[in-house]
Amino acid sequence: MQRSSARSGRRKISILGSTGSIGESTLSVLSHAASLGEADFQIIALTANKNVAQLAEQARQFRPEFIAVADESMGDDLKAAVRDLNVETGAGAAAIEEAANRDADWVMAAIVGAAGLRPTLLAAKRGADIALANKECLVCAGEVVLAAIREGGGALLPVDSEHNAIFQVFDFDQPQRVSRLILTASGGPFRTWTREQMSEATPAQAVAHPNWSMGAKISVDSATMMNKGLELIEAAHIFPVDHAKIEILVHPQSVIHSMVEYVDGSVLAQLGTPDMRTPIATTLNWPQRTPSPSASINFAEISKLTFEKPDIQRFPSLHLAREAINSGGSTPATLNAANEIAVASFLEGRIKFLDIAAITEQVLEVAARANGPSSLRTLDEVINADAQARRMAEECVSVRAAA
Ligand code: NDP
Repeated sequence: MQRSSARSGRRKISILGSTGSIGESTLSVLSHAASLGEADFQIIALTANKNVAQLAEQARQFRPEFIAVADESMGDDLKAAVRDLNVETGAGAAAIEEAANRDADWVMAAIVGAAGLRPTLLAAKRGADIALANKECLVCAGEVVLAAIREGGGALLPVDSEHNAIFQVFDFDQPQRVSRLILTASGGPFRTWTREQMSEATPAQAVAHPNWSMGAKISVDSATMMNKGLELIEAAHIFPVDHAKIEILVHPQSVIHSMVEYVDGSVLAQLGTPDMRTPIATTLNWPQRTPSPSASINFAEISKLTFEKPDIQRFPSLHLAREAINSGGSTPATLNAANEIAVASFLEGRIKFLDIAAITEQVLEVAARANGPSSLRTLDEVINADAQARRMAEECVSVRAAA
């Protein structure tokens, strides 16, 4: 895997999922760096699912070549919203793919969920550096994504704060000297809740993360701790270490974003305030540093850092993700798809909070009995496994919603 993406001159940038939390943070970093004369960039493409108003506003401010919404029915609205601007517009899945295919040399992959897979693959295959926030891509199609990046020759730059932290301190020249990767976890909003309390948790409570401001899906994943499970699988793809050497450690202050331990006993960590603009800035010109507007860390105010072992009884998603990585093959894709459906159903009020992990587990069991963990080497195989798991998860949701 390539470690650095430093390219001289004007950077051509596209943001897939620009209207989301990561997309907005990326634009904030770019504006900040440009205001200091530290970034020379041109925005090639910006995309959203259906948020036309926000996408049009971004187009007004950043003057991209092309903007697209995934929801085909919003195409006319988008066109109308930017009628006075010199910007091309598109709608539907093909338009998002066109955005990924346009000539940007740095692409932020920040669409949420497996919907981001195809566009990310296209950008990777044509050689763009991929700043990867969309962890679900690697979870459901790790080998396919890594092969596309190798084929294109661009760099994979992890945006997820934990992987970005490890990336900054990982010695890629001697991975065999790494004894442990320690992924830190805030523990989410229900870190101290009992299962009984969690059984009545509402969507509003689940998305109220104590430290990070994020989109709804990843916020719920943090509440179930599936987010850390997905990150475990993501880390196993990005870093050349045995997944058995990747540990999860709850660190409620979210100051240490992750750590690498070497065989000599040294532990290297990356620290910072819980603000995604720091890891995003890191990926913009890596290994050169780009200024970000994140606040500087005040250690005296933090005063203490604490650590706890994760509790897999209360957070069974952690166990499911570990089992999925042990099984390998299509199991992580099944886990991811079932979780996506279950989280969306919880946010819609159709199922309860604890049903999310229960449904994911049920789908994993049924899939294991039906197919076993077949390996996923092509995009079609990934899409099939994903679709099958979604169907099974929908059935489980319907049964629970009717009960
Ligand atoms: P948000 O929900 O805030 O934003 C998601 C973005 O994707 C929006 O632009 C949304 O458009 C777009 N989108 C949603 N569905 C589709 C679709 N079917 N097709 C095309 N575009 C779509 O998510 P986040 O920014 O929080 O997260 C994005 C990714 O980054 C996730 O994979 C998450 O796990 C990862 N991540 C996020 C972190 C964070 O702090 N937020 C931290 C680390 C990783 P619209 O606005 O129109 O809905």
